[in-house]
Amino acid sequence: MELDVSGLQVTYAGVIRALRGVDLRVGADEIVAVLGSNGAGKTTLLRAVTGSLKRHRAKVDKGQVTFGGRPLVGVDPVDVVNRGVVLVPEGRRVFGRLSVEENLRAGAISVRDRAARAEARNKVYAMFPRLAERRRQRAALLSGGEQQMLAIGRALMSSPRLLLLDEPSLGLAPQIVAHIGEVLKEINRAGTSVMLVEQNAAMALGVADRGYVLELGRVELSGPAAQLAASDSIASLYLGRG
Ligand code: ATP
Repeated sequence: MELDVSGLQVTYAGVIRALRGVDLRVGADEIVAVLGSNGAGKTTLLRAVTGSLKRHRAKVDKGQVTFGGRPLVGVDPVDVVNRGVVLVPEGRRVFGRLSVEENLRAGAISVRDRAARAEARNKVYAMFPRLAERRRQRAALLSGGEQQMLAIGRALMSSPRLLLLDEPSLGLAPQIVAHIGEVLKEINRAGTSVMLVEQNAAMALGVADRGYVLELGRVELSGPAAQLAASDSIASLYLGRG
């Protein structure tokens, strides 16, 4: 199913315009990178897609967000998850006092069928053998990279059609970031679309099919990932070249 954002304008507290007419698409089975510096509007875009604008005193002034042709704006966050759109939040936010397995169970709260839950969990453990080894350990004792894997695994427990990730590489060593990139490709090959919000342009464009660059609430640049990675403005702004 396809995510479609068209002409999206979002305002906080009635005055702060964070998105100023954003057009963006994540096709079925695609990996799409959304890049941009601080304050560009990346988090706001994720809030618009996940139904959490209201909680942040923001609202859509104009435009639309649809998933599989059905509007997402105004939909309750829990119902967004039930429609197959799941976020891996920035900073991972695993439940530190719960075990790895309990964290995974928390991600499957909306999955009624016991057998389906067990199958989802086995898939997560197959993808992340480290989590299987540590299934009884408290999440707080995991390394940063392992916690990121757990946050991704937890999101996968509801078998999403579209996985959204907010800065999954933040604060992690390059080797672990590379591993996360591989994991995202694997998830995508298994049939889930991915929208990857990142400040780490090299990582994001390395795994994505296409990308968008947001600046001050607008799409400044978009195109195939390889083309964006080769562009001079991206190189000087985000890749430390130029
Ligand atoms: P960052 O990487 O720093 O999170 P971002 O690209 O995610 O940046 P947003 O957080 O979406 O950008 O911010 C876009 C604009 O909206 C900024 O001008 C920001 O100050 C404003 N903004 C974000 N959250 C709120 C809020 N809760 N209340 C008021 N203004 C907000």
